[in-house]
Amino acid sequence: MSDNWIALIPKDPRYVPDGARQNLARDRFAEIAPDADEIEIKVTDKISFFDCGANFERICCPSCNSEISTEWWQDRMDDDYVDGGFTLAGYETPCCNARHSLDQLLYEWPQGFARFAIDAMNPNIGKLSNQHETEFEDILGTSLRVIYQHI
Ligand SMILES: [Zn+2]
Repeated sequence: MSDNWIALIPKDPRYVPDGARQNLARDRFAEIAPDADEIEIKVTDKISFFDCGANFERICCPSCNSEISTEWWQDRMDDDYVDGGFTLAGYETPCCNARHSLDQLLYEWPQGFARFAIDAMNPNIGKLSNQHETEFEDILGTSLRVIYQHI
C-alpha cells in the first residue's frame, strides 16, 4: 500500500501566511479533495525540505541545464543543514560554477524548501488544476510550488 500527498509550499522559502489565510486554505483544500485522509498545515521556525519521494527523477542546474549528481547534491544538503534547518547558502555548481542556493536548483519532480506547507494525504484528485493552484495563491497571498509526494 502506497500513499500520495499533494503539498503546497511558498516559492519564497521564508514566507509564512497568517493564520486566517492558513485556515481559509485548509477549508478550501477540504472542499477540493473531500476524500483526502488528512489535510495538514505545517509551520516551522527553520526552513525544512519537502521531497517528492519516489517521484524523484533528477536535479538540473538552472544556469546550464546540466544534470547534477545526487552525490554532490546530498553533500550540499548536509553542508546547508545547520541547527535544525536549511540556510540556503549559495554553492558553486559542479557543471558551470554558477552560484545557486539549493532551492534554486531544478528538481524533477518538483521539491522545495519552506517554513510553511499545507498538504493533503491521498487526496484522490490526480493533479491539482491550474485554476485551483491560482486560487490557493490568492488565498495564501504568495506564489506556490506544488509537490507531489509518492511513498
Ligand atoms: Zn550548470
